[in-house]
Amino acid sequence: MPRLFADHAATTPILPEVQAAMMGDYGNPSSLHAEGRAARADVDAAREILSQRLGCLFAEVTFTSSATEAVNTAILGSALAGLGGGRRRILLGAAEHHCVLHTAKPLMTLGYQVETIPCDAVGRIRLEALDAMLDQDVLLVAAMHANNELGTYHPVKDIADRVHGVGGLYLCDAVQTFGSHEWKVDDLQADFVAMSAHKLYGPKGVGALYVRAGTRLTPLIHGGGQEREMRAGTENVAGIIGFGVAVQHAQPISAEARDAFWAALDLPEAIRTVPAEIPVLPGHVHFRVPGITAESLLIRLDRMGLSASSGAACSSGSLEPSHVLMACGLSEAEAQEGIRITFGRGQTAETGVRAAKLVREAVRLIQEAQGGRRIN
Ligand code: PLP
Repeated sequence: MPRLFADHAATTPILPEVQAAMMGDYGNPSSLHAEGRAARADVDAAREILSQRLGCLFAEVTFTSSATEAVNTAILGSALAGLGGGRRRILLGAAEHHCVLHTAKPLMTLGYQVETIPCDAVGRIRLEALDAMLDQDVLLVAAMHANNELGTYHPVKDIADRVHGVGGLYLCDAVQTFGSHEWKVDDLQADFVAMSAHKLYGPKGVGALYVRAGTRLTPLIHGGGQEREMRAGTENVAGIIGFGVAVQHAQPISAEARDAFWAALDLPEAIRTVPAEIPVLPGHVHFRVPGITAESLLIRLDRMGLSASSGAACSSGSLEPSHVLMACGLSEAEAQEGIRITFGRGQTAETGVRAAKLVREAVRLIQEAQGGRRIN
């Protein structure tokens, strides 16, 4: 049996069309000669594709090395631009990606007050908590479009309205929905939107930041003035071309595999993290089996040919408790049990059933090794 890759929220395989397109021009887009002009045209063509998809101006798209850089640019860049301007508070959703949460330290060094917005049991910020926190001192609020660990969606427009109501800026990390979902920047109402090519069958090492025209932002990387002085450094031309082609080939993910997985799982001790009635990303499955750590189950599944994840960070070879699950109110031990399975393009009901069987079998083997102990 071939391996079953079910970790598409972590990354996706590069499309052959994308790979082929990346083998093209090698010029430096800043050069005046023919090779340089060809590379410039390629970068501009990709920017045009992204701006069309986003429904924004060409000049509102900046290419970066990753969504991580895009998010850092939005948060640190607006803090740098706001220095001296009065607003001192930055609010970050408690279940945001680490690329958002870990920017807190440098912000505090700059004299900003960084606060986390509490979230509900499925990772969505509590609107009433946000309301209680918002005031004229808030510079920026970060709340992602869909959570990478649990797959739940934020009510982005409601958040944007509230943040704009006090004159703050809204950053939306849309990494998990860009390409697979039909939205325009007007739907998100965000001032900054972060995206990443490798989550939509494009190359790794290239991302993009939408910055609403007129938004004050100080660049983080200075040098040759590339990206209209927003991000210096010779452009990753091949990566940017690949990003553009990936967006041209973007398509929705079917919920077939996910639905078949739940229907076939038949494992009463597994606890669904998000109740079935709450909408999640179509390829997304998240659960835990009490008494079985994510690490042991993932290692077992990997040996059996299924690549899944916990969605949590791995440091020095062992999984840390998921900060997302902790923010949802789970204990440290429970937050070490979360398993994320994310299906991708072309994966069918058959894929979902196969994944469910492998999970059931792996849990059974671990329970046997634990001496038949079952914790319900
Ligand atoms: N934000 C979310 C929600 C993500 O899932 C990821 C990737 O794991 C990132 C940001 C970071 O993206 P990149 O790998 O391009 O830095």
